[in-house]
Amino acid sequence: MRNLVEMIPGGVPVVVGLMLASLLLSSMVPIRPQMWLYPLVRQAVVMKIDYQTKNMLAQETPHFIIRYTPSDADMVAMVAEAAEAAYEPVTSALHYAPGKKTLILMHPDRQAMKQAYGWSGDASAMGFYWGGVIQILSPKAWMKNPSLNEFIATGPLAHEYTHLVLDHMARGNYSRWFTEGLAQYVEYQVNGYEWVTADNRLTGKLYTMDELDGDFDNLDNQALAYRQSLAAVRYIAEVHGEAKLTQVLTYLTKGERVNKAIEKSLGMDYGSYETMVNLWAQGNMKQYSKIAK
Ligand SMILES: [Zn+2]
Repeated sequence: MRNLVEMIPGGVPVVVGLMLASLLLSSMVPIRPQMWLYPLVRQAVVMKIDYQTKNMLAQETPHFIIRYTPSDADMVAMVAEAAEAAYEPVTSALHYAPGKKTLILMHPDRQAMKQAYGWSGDASAMGFYWGGVIQILSPKAWMKNPSLNEFIATGPLAHEYTHLVLDHMARGNYSRWFTEGLAQYVEYQVNGYEWVTADNRLTGKLYTMDELDGDFDNLDNQALAYRQSLAAVRYIAEVHGEAKLTQVLTYLTKGERVNKAIEKSLGMDYGSYETMVNLWAQGNMKQYSKIAK
């Protein structure tokens, strides 16, 4: 995954200018300096991708602009409807709505998506969020008989749009596990979807919060890292209440790190939080079984 700053049109001089501007701003307000720079960088990346894809076919909806290739002309109406279906549940779960329309790029096949903007993520993924833009794989590339209901329920839009809305509200101030946990939590609430496999049982050996906080993307068992991330977010909302999850989000917007935001919101130290999440998850989250789907 390329660094956001590497993608800026204009390269280094623009970044330096943005950094100076952000330092000036940050001396006036009590917030972490990179949180001022971040939205400017993201906006520049969106402008660059917008420019590079301006010749693609496009369909606008109240909150999204979907760009696609001629081979997906028969898919765009369904994607548009699914995107709008994700809008309300995601923005009301996070209590935040981005000001501008969100750009969604639809790629006809996995190869095209892999080539998009240096993406190096999971080859089996149906979409990804990066730099202010959602990119998805055409439903035709992974669904036998694409239907709206199935695409809404099992497609990537609610998940990726949650990443985007969090990114806007917290201005980059969150960890990888937290955004994956939140995106899965919203997906679980809205569509009842959970990623449960034989490899991500919560009853065996687990990653520590330290490991999840560290190099999340390089942990060997990604299915388990994702499952634990969902557990850590669900524990906050289901045991301490939705209002506490909202409080964590509010602390992130104010520049608190994820661990401090959780400690302050729940009134417990991060070590106790880790212990409680794991105990709760073992007893309360669905576990893989051969007969379970
Ligand atoms: Zn994700």
